[in-house]
Amino acid sequence: MNTHSVEVNRFLTSQPLKMYIGGEWISAAAGKTFDTVDPGSGKRLAAVAAGDASDIDRAVQAARKAFEKSGWATLPANDRAVILHRLADLIEKHLDLISELESLDVGKPRAQAAAFDVPHAAKTFRYYADLSVQTRRREPIAVAGNEARSVRLPYGVCGFIFPWNFPFLLVGWGVAPALAAGNTVVIKPAEDTPLSTLYFAKLAEEAGIPPGVVNVVTGLGETAGAALAAHPGIKRMSFTGSPEVGRLVGEACGRNLVPAKLELGGKGAAVLFDDVAVDAAAEALAGAVTLNAGQVCCTATRWLVHEKIADRFVDKAASAMSQMRIGHGSHPDTQIGPVVSEKQRERVLGYLKKGQAEGAKTLLIGGAAEVSGYGKGFYVKPALLGGSPDNVCAREEIFGPVAYVMTFRDESEAVELVNRSPYGLANSVWSADVERANRVAEQLVAGNSWINGHNLFAHGVPYGGCNLSGCGGGVLGPDTLEDYLRKQSVVRPLA
Ligand code: NAD
Repeated sequence: MNTHSVEVNRFLTSQPLKMYIGGEWISAAAGKTFDTVDPGSGKRLAAVAAGDASDIDRAVQAARKAFEKSGWATLPANDRAVILHRLADLIEKHLDLISELESLDVGKPRAQAAAFDVPHAAKTFRYYADLSVQTRRREPIAVAGNEARSVRLPYGVCGFIFPWNFPFLLVGWGVAPALAAGNTVVIKPAEDTPLSTLYFAKLAEEAGIPPGVVNVVTGLGETAGAALAAHPGIKRMSFTGSPEVGRLVGEACGRNLVPAKLELGGKGAAVLFDDVAVDAAAEALAGAVTLNAGQVCCTATRWLVHEKIADRFVDKAASAMSQMRIGHGSHPDTQIGPVVSEKQRERVLGYLKKGQAEGAKTLLIGGAAEVSGYGKGFYVKPALLGGSPDNVCAREEIFGPVAYVMTFRDESEAVELVNRSPYGLANSVWSADVERANRVAEQLVAGNSWINGHNLFAHGVPYGGCNLSGCGGGVLGPDTLEDYLRKQSVVRPLA
């Protein structure tokens, strides 16, 4: 007997869950399925269609037809914006259901999905719908003897491949600007977490987005994902996930000469100077590193603490982390849910072992955790390690509730330690001296530098990475809409 709501049960029992292609709900051409499980119990939630290259091809053809014939691409921006606002209304109307699905599939606390992931996705559709109305699509160009202008037009079919940590939020961040610009999309959600993206397709249909404009192909990365990245019908690609797979997607797009946005992993640092409010900073960072069970690309996993405050900071942070309630995502008291899969739990536990073998100090013992009453979930206790910056846990992305503490003496040492990382997604500086915080923030090489806080997102502030954390423009910024509009010059010599 499960405890899912009636609506979620109804959605899950329509199994196997089909893909959404060309406005129709269809099975995979080869008839295959894969299971998605509840990471909090290890039990199967649903069987989902396992699409492959032929399904991707069908989806790209449907998206191309919709681009050319549905009228979406040529609809006045105002009218498209009305539809995208209707989609945002529907997301808000079904907030509870989507949050429950997201929590079940990813493992995250339902309350967190309801407070952040789902409403933030809805706001992203509103933001880009409004922005698209204000964006000038025709700019005059001053050229003597000519009437000339630059016209901005949608690219055509855009491909999206997403990871499993924030499936619904990332669909919003990713596809909202592409749709607002007038493109059509083919989405490949992560195989661990396809449910909320399928629900998104249902809402897109209900909102009145024409058939073929939004397509969702569920399936594995090496089959459906690779086929989407390499499909010659894709005119713009966006990939969010690991650097290893990002390289493969970038290579495939390079062969087709297709621009790609790559939003990849991170090893974010928090730099704490000795004038900081130690207890408050320790609590905030304990929250940041355990958010979504530590599976957050931009979170602070390297804590660089001024040597004068290190002991007090570590005591406070370890105590805050050890008191967090680990549990099933559906339980209202849960602060840390399970990690997404047994494979991910093994990865995190493996890093703890490797880090200790390389001499890391254990400041808070982490490891596998048991939560009774839910079967065999993939729970992990938060861990705090510390020591040399050369330790594997200080260098590599773990993607679990694990922080690594290092100390520094002065500003330049702190900057050097942060910039040793090959990643460049997000760092934060914590200090009462705003001038110093601003100065250091600009020296940290990354797409984002936050001050006296971590994981700060706002519509209108571009969020992206550099170096191993990605390239291609990022998301959430006003220029992200421009990324989905190609430029064309139109010139007429005056007689
Ligand atoms: P992943 O790279 O393993 O998978 C991401 C997606 O790629 C999945 O949909 C997967 O099916 C697909 N895929 C796998 N192999 C493929 C292939 N050969 N060709 C095409 N697609 C393929 O990443 P993950 O484990 O799902 O997610 C964790 C990673 O994502 C972490 O590195 C994290 O930091 C990163 N991430 C980055 C951001 C960001 O905004 N920068 C946001 C969230 C997650």
